[in-house]
Order: sequence, then C-alpha cells, then structure tokens
Amino acid sequence: MPVQVHTIVSEPFEENSYLVWRDGSSDAFVVDPGFQPELILEAMKANELSLVAIICTHGHCDHIAGNAALKQAYPHAPIIIGSGDAPMLTDPLRNMSAVFGCPITSPPADRVVSEGEVITVAGIPLDVFAIPGHSAGHVVYVLRQSAPTLVFGGDVLFRGSIGRTDFPGGSFTELKAHIERVLWALPDNSVVYPGHGPVTTVGHEKRTNPFLV
Ligand SMILES: [Zn+2]
Repeated sequence: MPVQVHTIVSEPFEENSYLVWRDGSSDAFVVDPGFQPELILEAMKANELSLVAIICTHGHCDHIAGNAALKQAYPHAPIIIGSGDAPMLTDPLRNMSAVFGCPITSPPADRVVSEGEVITVAGIPLDVFAIPGHSAGHVVYVLRQSAPTLVFGGDVLFRGSIGRTDFPGGSFTELKAHIERVLWALPDNSVVYPGHGPVTTVGHEKRTNPFLV
C-alpha cells in the first residue's frame, strides 16, 4: 500500500508530527500533533488533504499540544490514544506541561486502544503495540501493509538513542524489554518514524544503538 508520510517539526521540543495518507486519497491522519498545529494545517492545505483522525503515541504535552486546534478545525476527527495514557490528555500535571510552565490540555480521547487492536484510519490499517517505559501507556502504530513496514514510534526508539525513562511511569528495563519484544521482531528494513530526530530502521538500531546493543 503506497502511502505518503510528511514530517512537521514543532518547536520548542523539536517534536515530529507526521501527516499520513494513501496515494491518491485526500483523507489523512496525523500522528502526535505538537505545539505548532498551524504548520500541520498548512501542510494539509498545500496537499489538499482533510483530517480524519488524530493519533497519539503517548500523553506527553509535546505530542498532544496540537490536538485542540486540529479538533476544532476537524471536529469529526477522533482523538485516539493508548488507554494507559488517555488520562494525561486532560491533565496538565500528568502530561508534564505544568512542569514546563505552560499548562495545556487536549480534548478527551474519542477512542482508546490497546495492544492487539488494528485500527483503520484514512484507509490505512495500523497494528497497535504497547511499549511502556518512557510513559506507562505508550503505544506504537505499525503499518505492515506497506513495503517496507512503517512504525510510528513516538518516544521509544530514536536514531542512536532511546526515550527518556526518568519521567513518572518511566522504566529503562521495561522500555528495553518491550523494544526488543515488539520492534526487534519486525523486519530489519522496517522504517521507524520517531517522535524526535531523524528516521531510522529497526536493523540499524539493532546493530548500533548504544542503549540497546
Ligand atoms: Zn514523551
């Protein structure tokens, strides 16, 4: 299934949001809208897209800050997040925004997901996997019906690094174990679209990631 993935980087945390759509379709979903939702709206306009879902990997503020603006522009687009992190959406203390001095909230989840579910958004099927350790309810979304496999990975695995494990609910042991369980089981050429920094592949990180080898 040929898909387009457009990256939008939001300040101040250099957080990656991804706009994803099927070739030839005008329906798109967004992964982890950050602090600059206007950039996402501009990218949708430039590509003549309309938003059909807002998907979050976890509940930290830099990954959900744009939810409210996008939901306002596209009220029918459901906000989807893992069940464990859903309470963070509406709680500035839990989503860490209060700690950074700019409390934000998102509208509540329209749908919560758990490992084992497959959600189809914008005609694109995504497998949901749980990878706790950066946040307790962190999930990743895997698109298997593309060549190569694509992973919308949030803050678990970065190029040469991994997500912080010193926030509430964090655990290095858990993060490492679940990266190995879920991501190392995917083909080596699977492309990981992370929440920060450049894309990478499962095989590259398996061989070289200093936190995991
Ligand atoms: Zn995070």
